[in-house]
Amino acid sequence: MREQERQLARRHVDEDCQQRLSRYRSDLLSALERVKHQATTRHTHEAAVLVGAVREGKLVLPWENELDAKRFRRSLEDTAFGIHIRRAEREELTERRLDQAAEHYRAAIMEARLPSERAYAGLLLARTTQKIGRQGEARKEYRAVLQSGAEFRDEYGVPLALYAAPALLDAGSERNEILQLLHALMRDRSRLGPATLHRMRDLAGKLGAADLTPVLDRWIGEHEQAEALQADVPRLLARLATEDPVWIPFGEPVWLVSLAARIGGTEPVLVAVSAARLRGLLSPSMENARIVQGKEGQPLGDSFPGLHVILPEGTPQKAGFSGTFMTLSLVLVMTLTLFAGYLLWRDVRRDGRLAELRSNFVSSVSHELRTPLTSIRMFTERMRLDDEMHPDTRAEYLDTILRESERLSRLVDNVLCFARIEQGRATYDLQPVSLAGVIENAVRAFGHVTGQSGFRLDLDVAPGLPAVLADRDALQQAILNLLGNAVKYSGSSREITLRLERENENAAIRVIDHGIGIAAEEQAHIFERFYRAATSENQHIPGTGLGLTLVDHIATAHGGSSSVKSCTGAGSTFTIRIPFAHGSTVPAGAAVAEQP
Ligand code: ADP
Repeated sequence: MREQERQLARRHVDEDCQQRLSRYRSDLLSALERVKHQATTRHTHEAAVLVGAVREGKLVLPWENELDAKRFRRSLEDTAFGIHIRRAEREELTERRLDQAAEHYRAAIMEARLPSERAYAGLLLARTTQKIGRQGEARKEYRAVLQSGAEFRDEYGVPLALYAAPALLDAGSERNEILQLLHALMRDRSRLGPATLHRMRDLAGKLGAADLTPVLDRWIGEHEQAEALQADVPRLLARLATEDPVWIPFGEPVWLVSLAARIGGTEPVLVAVSAARLRGLLSPSMENARIVQGKEGQPLGDSFPGLHVILPEGTPQKAGFSGTFMTLSLVLVMTLTLFAGYLLWRDVRRDGRLAELRSNFVSSVSHELRTPLTSIRMFTERMRLDDEMHPDTRAEYLDTILRESERLSRLVDNVLCFARIEQGRATYDLQPVSLAGVIENAVRAFGHVTGQSGFRLDLDVAPGLPAVLADRDALQQAILNLLGNAVKYSGSSREITLRLERENENAAIRVIDHGIGIAAEEQAHIFERFYRAATSENQHIPGTGLGLTLVDHIATAHGGSSSVKSCTGAGSTFTIRIPFAHGSTVPAGAAVAEQP
């Protein structure tokens, strides 16, 4: 699922990218077409760095005004003005006769028919008089030319005023006028050729006009790029001449170049737009996209051959939350499954073990019933057949029959008691009882067993213990079970101690043997119903696995508890704790009054 989600997220990103790309493409195309339209109808657009006519397969740069150049050249041809100018220049530059040259320049001024001719001759006259050393006269002429402003230009399109300005500036005059001239010239950028711009840049530098120099520097760079473009136009035209508008990248910084038909004109027009200056025309989310030439980014399609764009990063998908959520859910589901599996396994195992224990129990009970019954029947028959039996033998037989029937009744008691517990019908008649009396009764009931099998039962009863609230018979049954176990599991030891003592607020009844003991891992289970320790000794010791279950149930029903302390091979101590009954007293001599 996570992999699928990742693929989905990737597809979303791709689709988003495609969408943004196509939006950018149409945004860009419409912005460019807007600029082109504006540049070819009205003046120009700020982003359009170049708008030039394409004449006979050549690009005419806007400042290459041939009309100006032609008019200027014609005025220098065989007119009286032209003759004087040429003569003056020969005197000035070749013969170095400056006074004659000045005379001819003055004569040219007289002959001038156009104000531009007048200004041109005045400029040359100023140069000559400056060389002669007549500074005042020179400055006057220069000033007159400066005042003509942007109006008169030489054959290279350079305003004549720009020739007069440096001489005046060197002399430290007309600073403001020159600054105004620069500002005026910059208003119509299309007429400023590279030579004009370089002169303006020099002047701005000399004037320290920090606001003008960076603009002029940029324009100079753009003019150089425009001239490079002009040289490259034949190659570009082949690619540009298509029906659909096509924008081709050129140079660095990137210009986007396209062809347009000028409204009302016949010649096509080439428009170059600075990619960097398009930013403000695109939607804000696209402003940071970068147009590049080459392999980087994504291709911009047929309208922009060779152009790629690097789009800004889209909004990242919020996959983190659902991913983490999914992982957590998966972990949770797996944990729950494992836990449920464990519970199931535990129940099945417990049920299996219980079934096994139950079947063991059935066979144990059958065995337990059969053994004493067989003995009883056997000894009874012997006595009946032998009328002359020795009285000692008869007494021994009767003892055995008594012991076996007691064992039988203990077993039946246990099974019945257990049945009642299982059915929830076990009831206890709690009365104030002296435990010493209960213990004595138990010992007496158990006397046959100990007496016959050579056991020594030490009784250790702490005197003067308070009474407890107890069901006398039930408690006795519990003690008898413990004593029976002590005998069964004593191995070769023949000593058992039955102790009654105080343990804080409880009376503690302890049955201590020195027999086979119980392994630590078994101790946790021996109080469970039907449980019998899986030891090799137990194979030969009869039992049902009910005795301790009843002991524990009886102790708990009295508000007490049962426990064991044992070590394999070192014997065991079983303890039943019964809380003392507050406020209850046992009549003096109650213990003596107990009947067996
Ligand atoms: P059982 O009829 O088998 O004696 P119990 O519930 O009385 O059943 O005892 C459970 C198991 O506890 C016994 O099978 C035996 O392994 C162990 N056990 C009980 N009492 C003693 C003891 N005094 N010494 C050693 N093991 C004992």
